[in-house]
Amino acid sequence: MKLLVVDDSSTMRRIIKNTLARLGYKDIIEGADGVEGWDQINTNPDVDMLITDWNMPEMNGLELVQKVRADDRFSDMPIIMVTTEGGKAEVITALKAGVNNYIVKPFTPQVLKEKLGAVMGVSEE
Ligand SMILES: [Mg+2]
Repeated sequence: MKLLVVDDSSTMRRIIKNTLARLGYKDIIEGADGVEGWDQINTNPDVDMLITDWNMPEMNGLELVQKVRADDRFSDMPIIMVTTEGGKAEVITALKAGVNNYIVKPFTPQVLKEKLGAVMGVSEE
């Protein structure tokens, strides 16, 4: 199971990576913005899940999600958005763009675990 974590905060990437590692996910690659995230997906087409921030320079997370969903190779890839944008309108926008689940920062390891489980349950259908 290979996971891609995209966030412009290296601290946040580390927090997410450490949480994932404690949940048993060790195969994790990173990107610091949407452009790097898109490069990573194309270089590593075996990525099983994308966990992305929304607010980032160069290409934001919403644009990244739209790009991923528009590509037939990745249209089924589970995506979780982890962001400070917790408003109802933002959540709806993200879901419409194709995000499978949504986590508002700050989050607990338990929340990340639950959302991962929910998304993987969906992705197995
Ligand atoms: Mg950010």
